[in-house]
Amino acid sequence: MSDRIIEADWTYLDGQFEAGLRVQVGADGRISRVGSGGDEPTERLSGCALIPGFVNAHSHAFQRGLRGMAETFPQKSGNFWVWRDEMYRLVGELGPERFHDVCVQCFREMLRCGITTVGEFHYFHHDETCGGFAFDELVLSAARHAGIRIVLLNACYMTGDIGQPLEGGQRRFGSVSYEQFIENVERIDTLLDGDTQRQGLVAHSIRAVPIDDIVRLHAYASKRSMVLHMHVEEQQREIDMCLLHHKMRPMELLIERMPFGREFTAVHCTHTDPGDMTQFINRGANICICPLTEANLGDGISAAAKMWADGGAICLGTDSNNRIDMLEEMRLLEYGQRLRHEGRGVFKGRGGSVAEGLMRCATEVGARSLNIDTGSIAPGQHADVVVIDLNAPQLAGWTRESLLTSLVFGCDAGVIKNVCVGGNWVF
Ligand SMILES: [Zn+2]
Repeated sequence: MSDRIIEADWTYLDGQFEAGLRVQVGADGRISRVGSGGDEPTERLSGCALIPGFVNAHSHAFQRGLRGMAETFPQKSGNFWVWRDEMYRLVGELGPERFHDVCVQCFREMLRCGITTVGEFHYFHHDETCGGFAFDELVLSAARHAGIRIVLLNACYMTGDIGQPLEGGQRRFGSVSYEQFIENVERIDTLLDGDTQRQGLVAHSIRAVPIDDIVRLHAYASKRSMVLHMHVEEQQREIDMCLLHHKMRPMELLIERMPFGREFTAVHCTHTDPGDMTQFINRGANICICPLTEANLGDGISAAAKMWADGGAICLGTDSNNRIDMLEEMRLLEYGQRLRHEGRGVFKGRGGSVAEGLMRCATEVGARSLNIDTGSIAPGQHADVVVIDLNAPQLAGWTRESLLTSLVFGCDAGVIKNVCVGGNWVF
């Protein structure tokens, strides 16, 4: 098959839109050349702009099944832990078929809003018998069905809380031992589609994995050049429980025990101590913030402005998938901090552009967190691109200089016309 050459009116390159660029895609689904001139385009997209596909660094696809629920509060106070009971109720109801359908639906919605890669933080391993790891294959199958690139972030989950046995719905997440978990990781390796599927590892949280096993997981992941993700300090209660058992905060304990660097991503860090965060950032690790979910669950607002100012690598996740729109996640990341600090212009990127800074969070940093070649339109990268309809009413009035800001601050996914993953048009 000969190379394809895609040319839109405008292509997003190095933080700005350039005209007349041709993006050449090889038979391997990767970009082989970006530049002006050369061979005539095989696909000329007029009235369109090309941007890199978004990277969703944190998702639990099955939680899409909770949409429309858990938003009425007749008696109990509505907090994270009450919401978690609702989520466990959903877990009890999901058989293999419905689980697969919900995941496909969720991944399709992601593609339609320009997400070309999902980091699926997957802990729901077992069917109703609580044995085997059949649901791992279902997630991979759902991603293949939808056409999305996936990094299956395979989660170890061993305790109900620190030192506590698994209970109820949690039994469908559990590994009986570290060894059993690793055995399954190695089985999953053989099931991955080499072009669009990778595996990373997860220690679900300090609540769900003993610290010694978290350290072992990290060593195993590092040896195999896999990324490691973990929920860290989303809720104050997690910090209190950890202080009680370990006399340290979760992040403090991880810094003390685990020699991590850029391969590690801590998800949320909503209540992380400023001193711990400085050490975390100095090690080059990533922070994944999930603005819509954190707002929905009433988690709190993280110190993301300070993280960004200190050079923290911040990426984004749709987490509970109650609402899926990456442009909205980007805006809420910025707006949460504006509301907190009563000031504007937090995630400033090149030339002081907030849209450019937020774009990097939603693309390049996500790719860094998942360790995959995507997140920018450049030679060697996967051809994961999104086509923006420049005639969409939401964009009316755009100029070359204002286009990115109009997109990030004024649009929803309705302006997205097509989506390409690894050189294939999937939407
Ligand atoms: Zn999560």
